[in-house]
Amino acid sequence: MFICENCNVQIPASIPSYLYTVATRPKFYPRRLKANHFRADGRIQHADDAGGSGAEIAKQLRVCRSCYDTLNTY
Ligand SMILES: [Zn+2]
Repeated sequence: MFICENCNVQIPASIPSYLYTVATRPKFYPRRLKANHFRADGRIQHADDAGGSGAEIAKQLRVCRSCYDTLNTY
């Protein structure tokens, strides 16, 4: 049971909700040296994490199925 954050209708139990992404923001992850540890050939090895950039979710709405389908058409 939840209240749709788009149409403000209470949705009964056992009906799934959907997360609709409203806003994203750019994110940069720096390179990390020897960040990953793993065992190979009986020894602990270290590997670097390359880092990178992308987008992370800033705000989401919990919506019903009909609102999710309507919002995704635009
Ligand atoms: Zn709705």
